Amino acid sequence: MNPLFDQLFAKNQDSKIFLSFFDLDKTLTYDKFLNEIKCTANCLKKCGLEKGDCLVLQIEKSHHVFTIYGACVQLGIIFIPLNTSYTGFEVEYFLNDSECKIFITTSKMLKELGSLEKKRSFNIETIDADYKGSFFSKFNENEPLDFIEGLDENDTAAILYTSGTTGQSKGAMLSQKNLLSNALTLSKAWEFTASDILLHALPIYHTHGLFVATNIALISGSQIRFLKKFDVDDIILNLPSTTVMMGVPTFYTRLLENNKLNKEITKNMRLFISGSAPLLEDTHKKFNDLTGHNILERYGMTETNMITSNPYTGDRKAGTVGVVLEDVEIRVVAVENKKEVLKNGEIGVIEVKGPNVFKGYWKQPEKTKSEFREDGFFITGDMGYLDQDQYLTIVGRNKDLIITGGLNVYPKEIETIIDTHSDVEESAVVGVLHPDFGEGIIAIIVEKSGQTVNLQSLKETLRKNIAGFKLPKKFHIIKELPRNSMGKVQKNILRDTYKDEFRETNK
Ligand code: AMP
Repeated sequence: MNPLFDQLFAKNQDSKIFLSFFDLDKTLTYDKFLNEIKCTANCLKKCGLEKGDCLVLQIEKSHHVFTIYGACVQLGIIFIPLNTSYTGFEVEYFLNDSECKIFITTSKMLKELGSLEKKRSFNIETIDADYKGSFFSKFNENEPLDFIEGLDENDTAAILYTSGTTGQSKGAMLSQKNLLSNALTLSKAWEFTASDILLHALPIYHTHGLFVATNIALISGSQIRFLKKFDVDDIILNLPSTTVMMGVPTFYTRLLENNKLNKEITKNMRLFISGSAPLLEDTHKKFNDLTGHNILERYGMTETNMITSNPYTGDRKAGTVGVVLEDVEIRVVAVENKKEVLKNGEIGVIEVKGPNVFKGYWKQPEKTKSEFREDGFFITGDMGYLDQDQYLTIVGRNKDLIITGGLNVYPKEIETIIDTHSDVEESAVVGVLHPDFGEGIIAIIVEKSGQTVNLQSLKETLRKNIAGFKLPKKFHIIKELPRNSMGKVQKNILRDTYKDEFRETNK
């Protein structure tokens, strides 16, 4: 029994197109894809890999990532894809931590890891563009392997390392059940079918592009229009011939800046999905005005897969991440008294339980224990509240909560008001050390192109809308907010940049 392999990789065995490569002007059919997986599995077996071994992969976005993922699932090998922007120094940590048996990478990374190559305790194989590299010389010699490893639903299928904005990155162990249940739930919730063509411009080392986008397409037998990276012009070119797009909010803000975005080019699209970072209400509204489409926002994380989604049919509420997915439970608990489940409208920490929630952190049983409640709920670290219709709104990460003069301030509340100012593009509010208040509030603002924010009028607006203790003590105008590859604002960088702002001051 290997349900994940059966449902994702072995279900579609015909000549229907799985991938259409936009830049290469070629396609890969499902039957050929399965054949490549089986040849790769043979290759991995000959490299000495067995069920439960770890395989680390760091290569540029290409269909080989999917093939190797499939071969790992076929043999019960734990698949560990790494962010392609990690340097040799960072990669070394993941290789050691995972205790992998094989590292598949590019010749370029291999050069960077020169010193490491000498003291390795695992195999290193290279894959470069266009079927080059040591792994492919082996691959070409191999016949498809029909053997499929029998696996339990709780066996680990993959480890995704968290982005680690605080402290060291941790490996989240995702079981067969975690991945399969979420793929089934989401494909049903978003009504995916074999006629869909998914516009895929996300990275595939992260849960969004890999497990959300790809697993759903595989389980539904849909086609993926494969773009190596996000490029606004390429997206515009592909919109007329695709039906669904998944993106991070920056995809949508960039698209809105392009004057070719309109109702006509999106008329064949049935769904635009956003996640991984907050989508501004303003973006939601502008996108609807221009295209007639209501972006569907959903929420999840590496450890939990997807947790909530706005409905496919029904009210998609801008600014919310929708309602809890089938078979998943959430609750909002008080920050101080963690046993207290809060009422609708009250802000607290979001906790989640369900078949989607990971098994734990790799080799970190103590850390795992501290992140789960005794009754099995996982503490997400996100703060939010439920409304009367059970729609969830995220107000930020728990660690981003500002405590100033002993009072809690949620950055999102202030950011939302600042963002409504006509000259503001976006903002981020952080708290940094303050000798008097504990933390002092700073607002960092990006102006709309060609506009200048009148700080006096902005402060007036804030004063009218929020209590005095929530008013930022300092304002900074910058060109761009620091973001990671998934479009998340890196508040840790902002906190670091402005950490000395209130030192030696009582203002
Ligand atoms: P990652 O593990 O990299 O997927 O990051 C997960 C985190 O991204 C969550 O814990 C949230 O803080 C954030 N996130 C994901 N989706 C959303 C969303 N729709 N709105 C706001 N934050 C989100």
